[in-house]
Amino acid sequence: NNLLLEVKNLKTHFISDSGTVKAVDDVSFKISKGETLGIVGESGSGKSVTSLSIMGLLKDTPGKIVGGEILFEGKNLVGISESEMRKIRGNDIAMIFQEPMTSLNPVFRIGRQIEEAVILHTKLSKKQARGRAIEILTAVGISRPAEIIHDYPHQLSGGMRQRVMIAMAMACIPKILIADEPTTALDVTIQAQILDLMRSLTEVSETAILLITHDLGVVAEMCDRVVVMYGGRAVEESDVHSIFSNPKHPYTKGLLASIPKMGERVDRLPSIAGNVPIPSRMPEGCKFAPRCPLAMDICWEEEPLLKEVSPNHSSRCWLHEEVPEDESVFVGSPK
Ligand code: SF4
Ligand code: MG
Repeated sequence: NNLLLEVKNLKTHFISDSGTVKAVDDVSFKISKGETLGIVGESGSGKSVTSLSIMGLLKDTPGKIVGGEILFEGKNLVGISESEMRKIRGNDIAMIFQEPMTSLNPVFRIGRQIEEAVILHTKLSKKQARGRAIEILTAVGISRPAEIIHDYPHQLSGGMRQRVMIAMAMACIPKILIADEPTTALDVTIQAQILDLMRSLTEVSETAILLITHDLGVVAEMCDRVVVMYGGRAVEESDVHSIFSNPKHPYTKGLLASIPKMGERVDRLPSIAGNVPIPSRMPEGCKFAPRCPLAMDICWEEEPLLKEVSPNHSSRCWLHEEVPEDESVFVGSPK
C-alpha cells in the first residue's frame, strides 16, 4: 500500500458576518509514495487554502474545515491537536512557500536554522548536525556551504534563499513536500534549477510532492497527476498526459489556450475572458458558467458532478453527461 495522503470531500469555509465563502468545497484527491500531484488554478481557486488545510495552518485565517477528512497514512488530521500536528508538520509533511523569508528566521544564521531542523528530526548531535547541514546545502546546489552557513537570510539572493528553504524542508526527510508556487518569484533559469532539484530529491528519498501552481508549464515538467481547481471546486482530474492531450473541462481548455506557443512572440499574455468570480457571489450552478463560452441554461441552475469521463480522468461539466431525456431542462424554465 503506497497511499500516503487521502483528502476526502474536504470543505474549508471562511465564515464572516458578510457571509460564507466556500474556499474549498468538497475536494478529494490521493497522493502515493514518490508521486507528484499538481493542483492548478488561478488565484482564488482554493488551491492554497487546500494546502493550508492539510498543514493545519488555518488558525491565522478566518478559515475552518467544516467537512471531510485528511487522511495521512490512514490517520485523520482534521481536528487533531496543535501539538500532534506540530509533530507531523516539518517532519512527515514539509512545506515550501513562494516567499522563503516567511519560513526563514531573519535573526538566525542559515547554518543554525538548518542544524535545528536536523536535530529536531534526527538523533544527531550538534556537531554531527553541522556536518549534515553542509551536506544538505551541497545537495541543493549551494557551492560554498561552509561560508553560507554563517550568513543571515537577507544576505542571500532570492534563488539562494529558495534553495535554503528546500534544504530545510529536506533536512526533515519528509514523506510529503507541499510546495505552494515554489518558483513563481524566481527568474526562468533559477526556476528550472529549483524544479530539477526538487525532482532529484524526490527520486532519492521517495518523497511525494503536492505542487500548487498557476503555471501549466511547471505542471507539465513535474507532475504525474493533476487536479484543476476553480471556485473552490475540483473541475478536472487526470494523469498529466491526458490533461494536455485531451482536456475535457472548458476551464482547462481555456487555461491551455492561454499558454503562449513555443517560439510565439506575445506582447501580452492572452488570458481567459472574464474574471475570477467573487467568492461570496458564486453562481448556483456551475461555478465557471459566467466565463464559459459553452454555458447552457442548465449550467446556471444546477451544478454538475465530478464524473469519470474515461478511466482515471474526471471532469465536472454538463457537456460530459448524457443529455437528459427531458430536454426541457435545457430551456431554462423556472423551477
Ligand atoms: Fe461550461 Fe456548463 Fe460545462 Fe460549466 S457545466 S463548464 S458552464 S458547459
Ligand atoms: Mg496562492
